[in-house]
Amino acid sequence: MATQTSEASIDIPLLEVIRESMMDAVYLIDPESSNIIWVNRAGYKDLQMEQKEVLHHSVLSLQKDVHCHEHWSKIADVIRQNKKFTFVGSHIRKDGSELPVEVNTSLIEHQGKEYFLSVARDISTRRAIEAETQERSEQIWFAVNACTDGLWDWEINSDHVYFSPQLKKMLGYGPEEMQPVVDTWKNNVHPEDLPMVLQSLEEHIQGKRERYEATYRMSNRNGHYIWVHDLGCISLRSSCGKPMRVTGMVKDITDYKQQEFKLLELAAYDELTKLRNRREFKRIFDIQLDFAKRHESSLSLCLFDFDYFKTINDQYGHLAGDFVLKEISRILINNIRSTDFLFRWGGEEFALILANTSLNEAEVLAEELRKLLSQQVLNYAEHKIKITGSFGVASYPEYGKNQSELFLAADSALYQAKSRGRNLVCSPESEIILEKN
Ligand code: GH3
Ligand code: MG
Ligand code: MG
Repeated sequence: MATQTSEASIDIPLLEVIRESMMDAVYLIDPESSNIIWVNRAGYKDLQMEQKEVLHHSVLSLQKDVHCHEHWSKIADVIRQNKKFTFVGSHIRKDGSELPVEVNTSLIEHQGKEYFLSVARDISTRRAIEAETQERSEQIWFAVNACTDGLWDWEINSDHVYFSPQLKKMLGYGPEEMQPVVDTWKNNVHPEDLPMVLQSLEEHIQGKRERYEATYRMSNRNGHYIWVHDLGCISLRSSCGKPMRVTGMVKDITDYKQQEFKLLELAAYDELTKLRNRREFKRIFDIQLDFAKRHESSLSLCLFDFDYFKTINDQYGHLAGDFVLKEISRILINNIRSTDFLFRWGGEEFALILANTSLNEAEVLAEELRKLLSQQVLNYAEHKIKITGSFGVASYPEYGKNQSELFLAADSALYQAKSRGRNLVCSPESEIILEKN
């Protein structure tokens, strides 16, 4: 059976083995003379010396950072007062090289005499790791900074924000400008975007989002807005897990956003007439119909088609036909109400969504447009081109509850207007509103 070895039972030879096997250097020092009275094996090996070479040396000759006996006396006083002292510095080896050490010295007393017991730990490996980590983090910081248009680092408690020089440059500020506080950033965010941005940040801090991410407008030094993409996350927590710091990077995406807007415009607008296209018609019609249903209001749809348009192409050429389409579209868009939506459905066919408009009101408006159209004389080269159109009107809720029902009702009213001789407005009630001009 194994027996437990109590402290009292450790004999002197064992204690000797222990102190000679210690990884840390142990020195016993005379506080008055600063001489080393005893050193263990790790101590003299660290210094590349024999034990006897170290003994009776003053610590002054081994310590790079203790300059003179007066300096030593001051340190000795502090050790006596505090009973212990930690010092991080360098020991000098026999060959003159330096050994980084952390030395913990305590005051001990034996038979009425004071001694300093110093335990020195070689911290060269730790130093090398720290230096590498430091260098690496500097490299990472540099690389991230170069890959973005700026970095920021927010200390939550103090509200201090570090804005990198590149971030300041992105906004047109010099390195000395921009107060390092959160308000500086908040004041630059577009007021319409700020609530969304703050919400994303708050949700990340509360742990509801893995990271903070937002695309928003930021005003630059000239007061112009640029688009930025901002990405960040908690970079430091307290020992109890409380977020202490958030670090992030910003990228100027103004060019990308402008292209996106251009593409959206291309996808939504007809190139020739600059009117909204059929895809937009479907989208806006759904929104307007939904609004009408929720508010129990009316909604009308007017479809119209130019009469004998083919003959314009045949008589004056395709470019003349294009010119007519463009000119008429410009005239029409300038003569509808601000709440109406005009679309080029395709070819020489158009659609008009009339929000909050009853069938009777829609018939009157369509009639005004029909008249306006028939009064136009368009000058193209030496030609004077006249045009008319046929209109079909239908309304929600009487003639359709959804998009396809309403479209069908308006389209068959338009077909009626065509079959009754053209240049007319018809509705599902099949009444010709006014006589031909
Ligand atoms: P109606 O509608 O009165 O029955 O006669 P229409 O001649 O207008 O008949 P249809 O709808 O069949 O013809 C439409 C013509 O519009 C055919 C096509 O060449 C012409 N068109 C369609 N889109 C364009 C365009 O973008 N530019 C030009 N120049 N012509 C177009
Ligand atoms: Mg036609
Ligand atoms: Mg047509």
